[in-house]
Amino acid sequence: MAEKIKLHLLGANPNEIKEIHLVGRYALGVNWADDHGSIYPFVFLRKHCPCDQCAGSLPDPLPEGETWPTEIKRIEAGVRIGWQSGHETRYPGVRLREICQCALCVEERNKS
Ligand SMILES: [Zn+2]
Ligand SMILES: [Zn+2]
Repeated sequence: MAEKIKLHLLGANPNEIKEIHLVGRYALGVNWADDHGSIYPFVFLRKHCPCDQCAGSLPDPLPEGETWPTEIKRIEAGVRIGWQSGHETRYPGVRLREICQCALCVEERNKS
């Protein structure tokens, strides 16, 4: 008799974005497939832009116009943000989840 293989189905992918929305006037909210919720101030998102051009070379504080998004779009790979300066930031879901600033995630990250 053939034995049935039990598949251990994984839960929802924690790096999959379910929905994005604005939080007040200065932040982006992300709801994740695993029902986690994150809030990212625009300045924070701009500062952490993962592109080669920005990595580690952004002035502090950022010039005006740099921290104001003109467009926020959900794309297949994550989120795309267009800034007033013309710069464009792309956050893959996994990257965005990595920098979640909620107490839970920060604590989790400090543990390891
Ligand atoms: Zn950049
Ligand atoms: Zn979190």
